[in-house]
Amino acid sequence: MKYASSITDLIGDTPLVKLNSVTAGIAATVLVKLEYLNPGGSSKDRIAERIIDAAEQAGDLKPGGTIVEPTSGNTGVGLALIAQQRGYRCVFVLPDKVGVDKRNVLTAYGAEIVVTPTSVAPDDPESYYSVSDRLAREIPGAFKPNQYFNPNGPRSHYETTGPEIWRDTDGAVTHFVAGVGTGGTITGTGRYLREVSDGTVRIIGSDPEGSVYSGGTGRPYLVEGVGEDFWPGAYDPSVVHEVIPVSDAESFSMTRRLAREEGLLVGGSSGMAVVSALKAAADLPADAVVVVLLPDGGRGYLGKIFNDDWMRSYGFLDDTEERTVSDVVT
Ligand code: PMP
Repeated sequence: MKYASSITDLIGDTPLVKLNSVTAGIAATVLVKLEYLNPGGSSKDRIAERIIDAAEQAGDLKPGGTIVEPTSGNTGVGLALIAQQRGYRCVFVLPDKVGVDKRNVLTAYGAEIVVTPTSVAPDDPESYYSVSDRLAREIPGAFKPNQYFNPNGPRSHYETTGPEIWRDTDGAVTHFVAGVGTGGTITGTGRYLREVSDGTVRIIGSDPEGSVYSGGTGRPYLVEGVGEDFWPGAYDPSVVHEVIPVSDAESFSMTRRLAREEGLLVGGSSGMAVVSALKAAADLPADAVVVVLLPDGGRGYLGKIFNDDWMRSYGFLDDTEERTVSDVVT
């Protein structure tokens, strides 16, 4: 019989798939790593497991304890999965830009959520960082994973994501591209790939225009889960060779193309990372192998990126992309 002993045993070992359509005119091979195939639907399952293991070992999280974390949703799902399996309570603090579908996923796993305004400074008492700090102080037995500063986040990618990419490309990977949110993915994966390749793999960050990683000040953008208005400890800029900024319009347009042209229903930060990857790949030779990490699936964005009215309300919809039934039949 072939089965997993529990759902958390299925975290990691996600596949690579080649892009064939959006890469027209590019000589290099561009492979995407499908993190939506993790059991919780994103790359964040990896960090959740590693962070909870470490907290238990350190005695920071005890039986019956509560996990309190500010999260754009995916980390919450990963933590909620582990918490459900191990009997912990979860309280998640979310910025209000996070879509209702993502919120409902968290409550489906049994987590409690607190929603805070997006457009306040990180040190504002209403910010999602401040509110989660307060809850972590006030709830007895609370543990705050603190994904922005917890070294076990990048470590999980150093121990799993990086080795998987090296193994699955037989060491042929030449470039690694990932969006930067906490910075854990690019720091851990990038560090491993640099070390194992004796420094030959080039590490490229993808960032929403306006975020600090590409020289901005934290100006608001709509793509979720990436970009920051402060420098998290989980991000080590010395690992990253280059950061390529991407506009919301470019990110969302590519996200829609990935579904229609590649059969990949992924989130906006995935579209963003692919835009950066294609910019980086434009001048690369045919033997280059660019691996792009796609953090989550598109189901959490059906009311936004995949909704023509929402896209149009921000001026993101290019008329040539619109294909409604009436267009097709007339
Ligand atoms: N995309 C999405 C949808 C995310 O939720 C996150 C995590 N915040 C990222 C990308 C970025 O990953 P990291 O935090 O490891 O930089």
